[in-house]
Amino acid sequence: MKRGIVWFKNDLRVGDNIVLNQALLNCDQVIPFYCINASAYKLNKFGFRGMGFFRTQFMLESLRDLDRILQKLGGCLIVAYGNPIDEIIKVVNDYGASVVYTMEEVGYDEIQINMKVKKILKEAYIEFITYSNSTLYREGDLNMEVYNISDVFTEFRKYIERMSKVEEAISEPNHIPVPSKVNIPIPGIDFFGFQIVERDTRAVIDFKGGESFGLERIQQFIFGTRAINTYKQNRNALLGENNSSKLSPWLSMGCISPRQVYHEVKKYEKEFVSNESTYWLIFELLWRDFFWFMMKKHKHLYFLKEGIKGNRKTYTSYNQTILNNWVSGETENDFIDANMIELKQTGFMSNRGRQNVASFLCHNLNMDWRYGAAYFQEALIDFDVSSNWCNWAYIAGVGNDPRGVRTFNIEKQSKEYDSNYEYRKHWLIDRFE
Ligand code: FAD
Repeated sequence: MKRGIVWFKNDLRVGDNIVLNQALLNCDQVIPFYCINASAYKLNKFGFRGMGFFRTQFMLESLRDLDRILQKLGGCLIVAYGNPIDEIIKVVNDYGASVVYTMEEVGYDEIQINMKVKKILKEAYIEFITYSNSTLYREGDLNMEVYNISDVFTEFRKYIERMSKVEEAISEPNHIPVPSKVNIPIPGIDFFGFQIVERDTRAVIDFKGGESFGLERIQQFIFGTRAINTYKQNRNALLGENNSSKLSPWLSMGCISPRQVYHEVKKYEKEFVSNESTYWLIFELLWRDFFWFMMKKHKHLYFLKEGIKGNRKTYTSYNQTILNNWVSGETENDFIDANMIELKQTGFMSNRGRQNVASFLCHNLNMDWRYGAAYFQEALIDFDVSSNWCNWAYIAGVGNDPRGVRTFNIEKQSKEYDSNYEYRKHWLIDRFE
């Protein structure tokens, strides 16, 4: 009787999940497990938490949805809260498991956890097996070592599009054979001591965590509204539920996989329209892959002030008042403030907004960019370690931008993307009355 733990992390789904799939293929019984990392709720060296209200709420919803799906398949989900290293070892011992399956990580802290667990398990002759479970292209499909991947996105994209193929998505399992069904309650949001934020009616979309809702959103965006037809032209819009896909929270929590999105786009292209916009959604997913592979390649360098560029000019200054004003949308630049208030109130901000507020913090306020990245980590509902830190480094001029340091002209940007003040009035109505 071989028992394996399926240690879910940011892959909270049963569809296209290689970790779950391999555990089911190789074990007689599996124990689905998730640990809410207590250290994410402590203040870090930048003065922010690793996880704020919106993502915590989204995670809890995703865990409840996963548990419901697993229950339907005959299984259940064990949810712990604490130090993931202690908790995984505990569950291995409790169930007499001989192997742990989990996803490969690229974030520095996450890698340390995997390494420590692997070491402890090895001493007890217990296997620890990881799979890359979050990208569109698997590392094995690249036909190239990670350290040889170009640091320039366009080169990466052209190479991968020419040399690799996206695999089929793995089907959902039809049964989860668990040793016994346990009913461990998933904590409510009040457990985490947050001040509850009521849903803001100005939010562009109502995000609800879980595989079921993520799959629904793919259908709605692609087949339902057919907004994908005009995605390339509209994706930079600041308002509107369907101008961009809004898939990022589900992709980041792993409620859906980029491969599932890819194959739905391909299906749509076959049945309806194939144009630049339908391709562009896949193009954006390649940015996500690019940053994942970049973080795998350059590791901790993305968390250093000088990033992957080494000794270049870096933004070293730090001023708590300036930071507080930026965070709370009180910089006196209406365009920046509107975006920062949207983030604070909803956990979301458009890509255009993110680029502008990040550039403003680095190049107009001359702040150490890592404070901005750390605040985004806490505030974003869709925080993803490589997408966030690599995008920030890019804008700060210490990452993958081949053109070096680029500053967004905020006046020009606000004229281009909010010419009629609709967005600024939406979030700052008091200032415009
Ligand atoms: P769409 O335009 O519909 O794009 C489809 C998907 O492609 C997105 O859901 C996302 O998974 C991926 N994608 C698009 N643009 C990027 C990009 N530049 N980098 C990586 N992936 C991309 N995205 C996150 O998912 N998590 C983050 O923590 C994050 N932090 C960011 C920080 C900064 C400073 C900047 C400039 C961008 C950041 N992004 C992050 C990327 C991007 O802003 C969001 O993915 C996007 O706004 C989400 O909205 P959407 O799903 O409607 O995107």
